[in-house]
Amino acid sequence: MIAILSNQAPEEQLQDVIRTIEKEGLTVHVSRGSDRTVVGLVGQAEPRLAEHLRQMKGVEEVVKISKSYKLASRDFHPEDTVIQIGDVKIGGGELVVMGGPCAVESAEQIDEIARLVKAAGGQVLRGGAFKPRTGPYSFQGVGVEGLIMMAEAGKKHGLLTITEVMTPEYVDICAEYADILQIGTRNMQNFDLLRKLGTCGRPVLLKRGFSATYDELLNAAEYILAGGNPDVMLCERGIRTFESYTRNTLDLAAIPALQSLSHLPVISDPSHGTGRRELVEPMAKASVAAGADGLIIEMHTDPDNSMTGDGVQSLFPDQFAGLMRDLEQLSPIVGKSFSTTKAEAEAFKNWAIV
Ligand code: PEP
Ligand code: MN
Repeated sequence: MIAILSNQAPEEQLQDVIRTIEKEGLTVHVSRGSDRTVVGLVGQAEPRLAEHLRQMKGVEEVVKISKSYKLASRDFHPEDTVIQIGDVKIGGGELVVMGGPCAVESAEQIDEIARLVKAAGGQVLRGGAFKPRTGPYSFQGVGVEGLIMMAEAGKKHGLLTITEVMTPEYVDICAEYADILQIGTRNMQNFDLLRKLGTCGRPVLLKRGFSATYDELLNAAEYILAGGNPDVMLCERGIRTFESYTRNTLDLAAIPALQSLSHLPVISDPSHGTGRRELVEPMAKASVAAGADGLIIEMHTDPDNSMTGDGVQSLFPDQFAGLMRDLEQLSPIVGKSFSTTKAEAEAFKNWAIV
C-alpha cells in the first residue's frame, strides 16, 4: 500500500503519517518526487489503516499495490531512480558503459584494460575476482587479490569498478574494494545474499536469472530494496531458450518492459546475452535503441587466451572503442547523453593491438 502526499503538505503532516504507520508495526519507505511524496508501507496492513490514512491531513490518495513487489514498482516511485556514484549518474538521461574482462587475471592485465576502457570513454571497469563456473575444475577467479588489483587499476585510470559477489560472507570485502556489486544470473534468487546486499552500502547490479521472469527479477530486487538499499540496477543478460546458435537469447523487450514496471535503471549485457563477439556490437546498439540506461560489455586485450571461456564473446579493444564512438552518435537520438572526448579518442588511437 502507498500513501501519496503532495509536496505542498508540511513536513509535520508527513511525519504524522509515518508515525501512524509505524505504530501498526509496519516499515515505511519514503520516496520524494518533484511534486509528490510517496510513503510505502511494507508488511501486512489492516484494512482500517487505509481508511484512517485517507482521512489524515496532507494525504491525497491511498493506493493498494497489487503486485508482489512494491518498492521496485513504478507505482511507489514514479520517477526514474538515478544512482549517483562520484561524478557518474546511472539512470535518467545518461548512458553508462561498463567494460572490462570476464575475469581479473593479473595486475598488468587489468591495468592495461582499465587504461583502454577509460581511453574509449567508458565510466566503469568490470572484472570478476570470484567467478561462478559451471564446472568445479574450471578457473574460479584470483579471489581477494583480484579485488585489490582492480581497485588499484580503477583508481589509477579514474574508473568506477564493478565485480561479482557470490556469497554473503564475501559481500563486505567486495564492498570494501569495488564501487558496484554485481549479482550473477546464477545467484539472482540467492535470498541470503540478496538480504545481505540490503545493508552493504554499495549500489548493486542484479542480473536476471537465465530462466527468470520479469516478476521474479523484480521480486529479487525487492529483497535488496526492502533491506534498505535503494541503489539497485536491473540487468538483462539473456535467457535460456531452444536456440543453441547463441549462448543465450538477449531479451530486448525486457528493457522497455522493466522500465515501465519499475523505476530502477536497466543495464544490458550483450556479451553474455549472445556469447558471440560479432553479435555484441549490434546487440549493444539495439539495447541502447530500446532505451537501456547502460551496457556491461566484456573486452579483453588477448581474448583467445582469456582464462575463462568468455574470450569468444569479448571485444578486442579497437572494436570496443569503435562501438563507443557509434554510441556517441546513437545516444542523443534516444534521449541519452554519452560522450567520448576527443582527447580520449586520440589517446586510444596510439594504442597498438599486440
Ligand atoms: C559475468 O559477468 O562474467 C558473468 C558471469 O555473468 P552472468 O552472471 O550473467 O553469467
Ligand atoms: Mn563472463
